[in-house]
Order: sequence, then C-alpha cells, then structure tokens
Amino acid sequence: MQLTLWTYEGPPHVGAMRVATALKDVHYVLHAPQGDTYADLLFTMIERRDRRPPVTYTTFQARDLGGDTAELFKEAARDAVARFKPAALLVGASCTGELIQDDPGGLARALNLPIPVIPLELPSYQKKENWGAAETFYQTVRALAGPSAPQPGRPRPAPADGPRPSCNILGPTALGFRHRDDVAEVVKLLGTLGIRVAVVAPMGAAADDIARLGEADFNVVLYPELALSAAQWLKRTFGQPFTTVVPIGTGATRDFIAEVCGLAGIPVPPGLEEGAARAPWYSRSVDSTYLTGKRVFIFGDGTHAVAAARIATEELGFEVVGLGTYSREMAREVRAAAGRLGIEALITDDYLEVEAKVAELAPELVLGTQMERHIAKRLGVPCAVISAPVHVQDFPARYSPQMGFEGANVIFDSWVHPLMMGLEEHLLGMFREDFEFNDGAAPSHLGPGSKVPAAVARATVPAIIPAANDPAPAGPSGWTLEAERELQKIPFFVRGKARRNTERFAQERGVALITVETLYDAKAHFGR
Ligand code: SF4
Repeated sequence: MQLTLWTYEGPPHVGAMRVATALKDVHYVLHAPQGDTYADLLFTMIERRDRRPPVTYTTFQARDLGGDTAELFKEAARDAVARFKPAALLVGASCTGELIQDDPGGLARALNLPIPVIPLELPSYQKKENWGAAETFYQTVRALAGPSAPQPGRPRPAPADGPRPSCNILGPTALGFRHRDDVAEVVKLLGTLGIRVAVVAPMGAAADDIARLGEADFNVVLYPELALSAAQWLKRTFGQPFTTVVPIGTGATRDFIAEVCGLAGIPVPPGLEEGAARAPWYSRSVDSTYLTGKRVFIFGDGTHAVAAARIATEELGFEVVGLGTYSREMAREVRAAAGRLGIEALITDDYLEVEAKVAELAPELVLGTQMERHIAKRLGVPCAVISAPVHVQDFPARYSPQMGFEGANVIFDSWVHPLMMGLEEHLLGMFREDFEFNDGAAPSHLGPGSKVPAAVARATVPAIIPAANDPAPAGPSGWTLEAERELQKIPFFVRGKARRNTERFAQERGVALITVETLYDAKAHFGR
C-alpha cells in the first residue's frame, strides 16, 4: 500500500485508451467496473475531443460478480464489433477487471470475430499509463504490421515510390502534451528536408496504415516513452532504423535534422533556421542577460525533463539545480543528464518528495507538470509547465508546439513569462522600501496583491533590516493640489518612493502642507 493523493500517471488501461483514441478505426473493449467510464472525461473535457473515445466498458457491478462476468465481456465485445464495425479490436481489463481474471484475450478469440483481436496484458498494479500506452502501441503494431514482415534474413525490398526518402512518425497519442502541434511542426520540418511522411501513428492512423509501417525507410520516434518498443520491433522485423534525438529546443532540433538527414542519406540543407528560429536571438539579446544563472528546478516525464535541462543550460544560461522524472522507464536517461550537470537526479512518483526537494533547493523557477504548478504556487516560486500531466489549459486552441524551431520559440516565451522582468528586478533592487516595488512585490503581470516568490526575494533582493532608531514617519497633514498633480507626473513605479520620501522630509522639518517646492526640496535632499 502507498498513501497517494496525487498521481503523475493514470493506470495502464488509460494509456491503452490514449492509443485507441488516437487510432482511427480501432475499438477497445475494456473489462471494467461501473464507474471506470470517468476516463472518458480526460478526452472529452481535458483534450476537448468532440466525441467519446472508442471504448466499450463492460461496467460490471457488485451483483454481477456472483454471475457470469465472462459472458458479460463476450456480449460487450460482440455488440461493440456489430455496432462500431472497427477494423481491429483491442481487448483488456482495468485494475478491478484484472482481479477477476476473466481473460479478455481468450474470450474474444473464442468469439471468432471477423477482425484482428489484440489482447492487452497490462499489469495495473506494477505499471502505469505511459507503459500501458507503449505496450498497447507495440502490440497493435506487431499484430497489424506483423503479417507483412519479410522472411527473416531477406533484404528489405526497394522503396516502391522512387528515390524520395520516407519515414513514419511514431509516438503521438491522444491526451499527449502538445502532441497535436508537435506532429504538425515535425511534418513541416521533414517536408522542408524533402522527406515524405508515410504514416503518423498512432495519432490519426487507421489499421491499414499500421499494417504498412514497414514500408518506410526509417522511423522518427517523437516520444520514446510511448514509441520506443514499437520502433525497436520495427527495426528488428523490417530493418528500419529510428531516430534517437527528440527535437525539443534549438540545439536538439539541429541535431535531429542532422540525424534525420543521415538516416535519409541526404545532405543537411543550409538556412533551415532562417525566419523560423527566433529563440536563439531572443536569448542572446541584451534583455535576456538577467536570465543568466537563474536557478531552475526541472521535473516531468523523461523526454521533456531531459530536453528542458539542455535548453535551460545551453540555450538560456540558467543554472539547473534540480532535475528529475516520474517515469521510471526513463530513469537512466535522466540520471545521465543530471550527471552531466553535476547533480543527482530525483526519480520518484511521490509529489511530496518533489515538493520537499523544491523547498530545499529554493529555485527561482520551476519547470514541471501540473503538480509542480501547485507545489510552486504553494512555495511562491514562478513556474512553467513542460510535461504531462497537464490540465485543460495546456491543450490550447492556438498553435503551441514544443518541438522544432517554432517549439523553441514557444518554450522561450512560456518559460520567461512567469519570471520577473529585468526592469522590475532592477527597480526592486533600487527602491526596495517602496510600497509598490518592495521585497514583497510580485511580477506586475500577476496583478495587485500578489506576493513575490520567496526564493526570488532571497536570490535577488537583499533583506532590509530597519534600524531600531528609524521610526516610521507619521503621515503629514496633507498635500496641495498642485503638489499632488506634480507627484502624479513621476512614473508609477517610483511614485510611492517619492511620496514617502517627501512626507518624511516634511515631517522632519515640521512642514504642515506639502507644496510643489517641498516636493522638489525633498528630491534635492534625497538626491544628494
Ligand atoms: S479499476 Fe482501476 S481505474 Fe477503475 S476505479 Fe478501480 S483503481 Fe480506478
């Protein structure tokens, strides 16, 4: 037993649902208790899909357990095939379904359905959502592309459609963080390289498309958590090499282009970044100087955490003080990335451990999941989301990839946005006793009343210790109208400071009414 309030990943059958929902004409019959249909909402509300996922639940109840739940499953499978007429059927069980051991695979096979049946063995008590998605995709690819596999030892047949190199894009699923726009960006990038995209899978692929995966020259693995096992099987079976670089960040996109061109046997064309990559110049422009050395904590799925660490250090000049993942399958990669930065990786799916680490390291920026957003909010640290799990606002209407050159632009904007701007930081340092720009002031875009992140205050603004013999001046009896008007001419971010200084000046000299002259006398006095 583990006491759990938040989980980074759902059970593995949610991963299977993500693959089924991403595919076009594949249905999933899930042996699950009544109530498990909650998972539909992930797709219809968070991802805002306009239709239910292609999933039939057996929804057995307590009273069914005394009867024949196996018959219930068979009926559901038969009905689903008759009603939805899919090209292939995934069958499996949810956590509770697993406990009653009805063997959905065997039962579905006994039905002699006229379509391929793909049984899923998803160990709900050991594995999680991403593993479930990867396993489902792998089993689907094996079942549907397997029949066209060449005899072992036979060479790959020459491409049927001429010399233009082709590839598949593997990994994007339903409910994936920015998968929709990542695919668009990578397809565009491959198009400019002259590479034809044969199949994108599972997102948008039909069973027929999966069956012809083996025809492309190579595979592009966008999300290793989800597609590596399928890509490895395709390599073993069809001799297709696959990419290892995930194009998140400008540097990684350049490396990805080089890798893809190598696999396609074409030269890297010059000038690809022109017009597309603004992030490199933005991060070099003088306004970004204040970003240098910002202490950042990174947590997420393995792919996004490793990519973020590279962007943070190599492209934005941040100092990565913490790096971790909840994906145990990617622990090795994350440990290696942390090792390169001279820190120890945090591999955990316990958000309390993550929270304790953030509190201990006191970073100036947290890059994480929806959980880290909550943690960062509680600790008062700015935060940007870089990885699933995410809420509805991270399935935006606008184009917002993470991959490719446009993805790097999006990343630059979204990471810098929560930080205090350079000017604000500067003013905080200069006018730290000001009522607006003081130790407690937060970035102005967060609105009035918000407090500066504790870590930022510590890192950028030295604490002010008022002298014991420095009594706060009592308010003066008043300002003349002209003096008030003159005060309003002072920029808002220093106005408070000017008012307080003038009032103190007036009080110390026994001036009852502040005039324009008093204001300028005070300015001259404090300006000395
Ligand atoms: S079967 Fe699994 S997903 Fe469904 S309610 Fe039980 S624990 Fe949750």
